Amino acid sequence: MARHFQCTACGKCCYGQLPLTIKDAFANAERFPLCFVWTPLRQGSKDYPMVASLGTTIKLADRKELAVLIVPTAYIPSELPCPALLENNLCGIHAEKPARCKTMPFYPYRDEQYQAELLIPRKSWECDTSEVAPIVFQDKRVVFRDDFDTERQDLEEQVPLLRRYAEFTLKYSPMIVDSLAKASMSQKAGQVVTSLSSFLTATKYSDTKQLAQRQLPVLNAFAEKTVGHKPHVDFHKKYTDWAKEMAYLASRP
Ligand code: SF4
Ligand code: SF4
Repeated sequence: MARHFQCTACGKCCYGQLPLTIKDAFANAERFPLCFVWTPLRQGSKDYPMVASLGTTIKLADRKELAVLIVPTAYIPSELPCPALLENNLCGIHAEKPARCKTMPFYPYRDEQYQAELLIPRKSWECDTSEVAPIVFQDKRVVFRDDFDTERQDLEEQVPLLRRYAEFTLKYSPMIVDSLAKASMSQKAGQVVTSLSSFLTATKYSDTKQLAQRQLPVLNAFAEKTVGHKPHVDFHKKYTDWAKEMAYLASRP
């Protein structure tokens, strides 16, 4: 069945967490407060094979296995807009916006045949899905597919680096397995969040100092923005802790 979709640039999907590729995260280190979000998936889910191939798998004590997405993320509370969103709801970095934003609402972490499920706008989103809008999905295939293919390719290319990070993290912080197992039981998509500094250290990233210098002011700005807001207490604590880590990395010789 043909599915129609057109973005009307209402800006409503430009709030909250924004998943990124590593390439886009690092290119926007002076713009987004960055971290890594780990989302576990239990065996049996239809997304399991794709999540296992673009993320990693971990064994649990009961011999079961989890597939885990490890996603570089602009970590923003759901009520707050993306820092690049303009007052007129347009994107301030339209020409160079992240692959995730170009591919919206498609999501290459999911098998292509299931992408039609993502064409149902969330409450309050003003996407046009009427028959006047262009056909964007047909015969289980994305029609205008350049952005989709580019994002999928970026996700595939970063897998070895993410797995190196996962291996390091699971070795030195084995308690994360319990957190992921617990998150996988949650009704809502459970998450475990790790810091950008843990990734830079684990992968021995070559430009750590420069990246930390670009990221530090963003974390300080978000810590300031969320201070004293009850719903943002956890975010504020994370920004503050991560800023200390970034300050250390930024000041190293
Ligand atoms: S970068 Fe642009 S399109 Fe992407 S979330 Fe931010 S404002 Fe929206
Ligand atoms: S919610 Fe829909 S219409 Fe609004 S900016 Fe996002 S994709 Fe476009």
